[in-house]
Amino acid sequence: MPLFENQQIQIYNSLSGKKESFNPITKGSIGMYVCGPTVYSNVHLGNVRTFMSFDVIFRYLKHLGYKVRYVRNITDAGHLENDADVGEDRIAKKARIEEIEPMEVVQRYTVDFHNTLNTFNFLPPSIEPTATGHIIEQIELINTIIEKGFAYEVNGSVYFDVHKFNETHDYGKLSKRKLEDLIHNTRELEGQSDKKNPQDFALWKRAEPQHIMRWPSPWSDGFPGWHLECTAMSTKYLGEHFDIHGGGMDLKFPHHECEIAQNEAAKGQTPVNYWMHANMLIMNGKKMAKSTGNFILPNEIFSGDNANISKAFAPSVARFFMLQAHYRSILDFTNDGLLASEKGFYRLMDAVNLLEELKPSDTSTIDIDTWRQSCYDAMNDDFNSPILIANLFEAVKYINQIKEGDQTLTADDLSTLKTTVNSFTFDILGLENVTKNDSGTDKLSGAVEVLIKLRKEARANKDFALSDKIRDELVEVGIQLNDGKDGTTFSVN
Ligand SMILES: [Zn+2]
Repeated sequence: MPLFENQQIQIYNSLSGKKESFNPITKGSIGMYVCGPTVYSNVHLGNVRTFMSFDVIFRYLKHLGYKVRYVRNITDAGHLENDADVGEDRIAKKARIEEIEPMEVVQRYTVDFHNTLNTFNFLPPSIEPTATGHIIEQIELINTIIEKGFAYEVNGSVYFDVHKFNETHDYGKLSKRKLEDLIHNTRELEGQSDKKNPQDFALWKRAEPQHIMRWPSPWSDGFPGWHLECTAMSTKYLGEHFDIHGGGMDLKFPHHECEIAQNEAAKGQTPVNYWMHANMLIMNGKKMAKSTGNFILPNEIFSGDNANISKAFAPSVARFFMLQAHYRSILDFTNDGLLASEKGFYRLMDAVNLLEELKPSDTSTIDIDTWRQSCYDAMNDDFNSPILIANLFEAVKYINQIKEGDQTLTADDLSTLKTTVNSFTFDILGLENVTKNDSGTDKLSGAVEVLIKLRKEARANKDFALSDKIRDELVEVGIQLNDGKDGTTFSVN
């Protein structure tokens, strides 16, 4: 019997604003769509946080025995600056500045995105479709929306008629906005747009002559609006009605609101049962911004090459740190937080590595089944990873007590403890079993110490040619040996 038969998940649904019992449309199978990155720059740590939240959700659903189809797209066209319908395409702009092809920009930053996520030990999604690979589907979708009377063409561009849609549907139901308020708060200069109303959004944009990224369509040579690709790709791979749609909080409006509108206009039904949004990541209590220096790239966490952190951190330490906040809470990225998490992480790993050494007894003094269910309860409660981690630290306490002989477990209970700790630590939280000595700096020190010892032996044997060779060749790779009264030390230049 799959685990999900006995574990009832509650999901906070952004649409209803409350936690709801999760029941998939098809028993045992789940369709999940998450808005992926726009690949025009190195992936932002805030985006990594969002994708990590859904990586853990994906891992947990799979662990429960669900068959999960997880679709996460790559936006490689159509995303204009400021998320609006005017301005330059983000990828085309980068291509112009760097004097390369837009598809070179896409390739470079898609590779960066994958490398970063691999370093953080993400599972790949089941399907990773691209916007440019689904232009035909997007054109078909626009045709349907026009046929249903919810879109209009002006000068080769096609716009979604938000006011018309709102007469029979509820535009704003996800972000809890009212069209009247949006009208009241919009300031758009007259004559700047072909739109009937400023709230309308582009489904297709006619390309200006200088716009490189363009495709033929019934209306003009142009490109699709940003919101359209997710509607086209999610329904293509998950069906017109699917279980979970996720993304960062900032996508709720207008992006996800527009997705709902496009779907309801084209297919006559709301596409998604559970909308999930991951909260923001800030740094040192403030919004991250390159201009103020309050900023870090994911790779700089691993190299330590950033003034906001005091040292390099292993990817699993950074991952552990990020999962110590619930996905719906704001995560404050700080050096102190990372240092504290590092201590906790290695304490957990030390305990995990002790598990194999523990010996069973005839009786159990700990109720392991209750503890095990508390781990599931944490994840069943809207994927509460910080509570799960607190439960894993309960297990750290048990492991150390059993090791010391202060508590005992039967063979069966010990096996449950091992399986549960390993499943939640590695399969579900996605941490990797590294110990402190695995870090690059420690390995380097170890290797140099070996060479210092060899050099000492060479000198004792009066083999000065060899001892000088060791010293000189280390200098060539940037390592300086310093002979002193108490022996030889080294410094890295
Ligand atoms: Zn999207």
